[in-house]
Amino acid sequence: MKIVFKKIPQSGVDFETSSDEIKFYGKLEKKSKNLVQCIGRLEGTLVCQCDRCGDDMSLNVNEKVDLLASDGLYESGDNLLEVMEFFEESIDLNTILLSEVEILKSDYHYCSTCNVE
Ligand SMILES: [Zn+2]
Repeated sequence: MKIVFKKIPQSGVDFETSSDEIKFYGKLEKKSKNLVQCIGRLEGTLVCQCDRCGDDMSLNVNEKVDLLASDGLYESGDNLLEVMEFFEESIDLNTILLSEVEILKSDYHYCSTCNVE
């Protein structure tokens, strides 16, 4: 799902997309000419591998997402929030979704068997 920067109204726009078992929804709000704030939530189930035994396991996901999307290169020195840069004049929400999923996957997860002790 892509949303063109120029088409995002001052009042913001709702979005909803998904990948596999994960739903990503929320709102895009215009912050400045080239900057849009993306406030949303990831919900669903993520299949990943246990970091101890390697078995497939499913992880319940319920994560808040709050980041900035920049139309082109982001040059401000303000690094309070995560900023994702887009170079096609549109925000690809699936890119945001997949990068958030990668962050979740990079955490350590243990299946119920390994999590006992
Ligand atoms: Zn395990």
